[in-house]
Parts: sequence; structure tokens; C-alpha cells
Amino acid sequence: MILPKSALITDVSPRDGLQSEGASIPTDDKVRLINALAHTGIRRIEVTSFVHPKIVPSMADADEVFRRIERVAGVSYQALVPNVRGADRAIAAGADELNVVLSTTEGFNLRNLNMTVAESIETFRAVAEVARAAGLRAEVGLSVVFGCPYDGPVGLREVLDVTDRLIEAGAEEILFADTIGVANPRQVTETVESIRARWPKLNIGLHFHDTRGLGIANVLSGLEAGVNRFDASVAGIGACPFAPGATGNVCTEDTVHMLESMGVNTGIDLEALIDCARVARELVRHEVPSRLLRAGAWRVP
Ligand code: ZN
Repeated sequence: MILPKSALITDVSPRDGLQSEGASIPTDDKVRLINALAHTGIRRIEVTSFVHPKIVPSMADADEVFRRIERVAGVSYQALVPNVRGADRAIAAGADELNVVLSTTEGFNLRNLNMTVAESIETFRAVAEVARAAGLRAEVGLSVVFGCPYDGPVGLREVLDVTDRLIEAGAEEILFADTIGVANPRQVTETVESIRARWPKLNIGLHFHDTRGLGIANVLSGLEAGVNRFDASVAGIGACPFAPGATGNVCTEDTVHMLESMGVNTGIDLEALIDCARVARELVRHEVPSRLLRAGAWRVP
């Protein structure tokens, strides 16, 4: 098995994980989780989202979260932004990187963002320009790449077409997301291979939800296809408020455990990460899907 030597894990739990928990998580608790994550050796954290508070009330404290977190050297603090106004707010708040989310399908984009895909691509272009002017990078999170709750199965041709248009608009890194947890490992391999064949220089990342238990299998599939960037959520918390039935992201500590045990370096301290999962479980006050939180890391007896 040929695998990348190292992998970049972005923990998205403070954003993708907590946004579905309503407005019930106090700002101080979010800050506690982010600070704990920053001390695990992780290099990228999706901190929050600068969307309008009316649309996602749980992220209304985005500026405050950025103001209060402790900045750990070597950690990139990323913010999701829906438009130029959000980008301006995120840059003023001190975000290191911006992330723009848009969809592969018209159905999901219209319901989720109230725009056509073409309009969203123009929004990305404008945000990328604002980011560049501030010396930052903007990446794309491309939703429902492997299946859409409204438009059904998504063909490879649609994925390649949207990717073409995003690259033309300046995208250098795209996270291909299985927003509703319907991808399978074979589909992941075929998708990654097609994208890589067409754009060898594109930084490809993968973002899986574990809705149907295939999250970690899909990570492995991506890894074998040469991908070394993955989003994950500590304790496996999260869902998408716009994707009915979707559950949490693939769990960060379970993913890191798999990678490290196969010799793929993440730079992350697994025990510290399990402590973070404990914090996340405390915050959401319900059971979480993490396996390592239950079983612990395996120590050779
Ligand atoms: Zn997601």
C-alpha cells in the first residue's frame, strides 16, 4: 500500500461541529475547545463562520470568538465566509485563511445559499480577491460532491465542470465534501483520480460525514489515491442544518489514530486530542460517535 508520508488534518468541530447545536454553546466554551485543539499539534482549525446571525444563530459570536482565542504559533485559524462582507469581518477579526462554501448542484446551492452556482462562483472570485489583497488565501469547500439531498446522484462530469469554473476563478485548494454522507470508497477513488488527472497541481482535500458509517473508509480511499488533506471533527460532532438527516464529520481522533498507526504523520498528539474530544462531548451534552473516546489509544502491553 503506497500512502502519503504525512497528512494535514483540519479540525472543523468549532464550525461544522457546533453550528448545528443551536445558540446554546457559550462563547467561552467554544474558545476553550479551540484553545485545547491548538495545543494538540494540529495545524489548521476552522474556528467559526461569518454568516449573517439570522441565518446561523449559533455563529453570531464569530468576532468575539476570534477576539478571545489564544493564538498558538504554527496553527492556522480559518474562517468560513459567505461573501465579501463576511470576508471583511473575518480579516478584521484576524482570520489566517478564508473558506468559501458552495455546492456542486443547483438544488443544494439554491436552498443552502439562495444563489445559483454561477453566482456563488462569482462570490468566491470576489472573496479570493479580497483575501489576496490582505495577504491571505481563500479555499473552497465544495458541497454535495458525492450526492445531493435535492438533486440526487451527482455525476463526475458535474464535479469536473464546477471544478473547472472554480479554478478559472482562482481556486488553488478545493475540499471535496460529502455533505450528507453518501459517498463510498470506490466513488472517492474514481473522483480523486479524475480530478488529479485533469488538474495535477490542485490541492485536493476531502471532507466526509460519517452518516452511513463509511467516513473512515472514504478517508483511506482518498489517502490511497494520494490525498493528504482531510477535514475532521473532534469527537465526531456535527451535522449540516441544511442537509436533512446528515450527521457528524468523520471523527478527528479516530482518523488520526488510523493515519498514525499506518505510519502517516499528522504531527498531532493523540492523547491530547482525546482530551479535546472529552471537552467537545461536555459542550454538546449528548453522546458522540468517537470510538477512541470509548476505547482509548492502543498501548502495547
Ligand atoms: Zn460538513
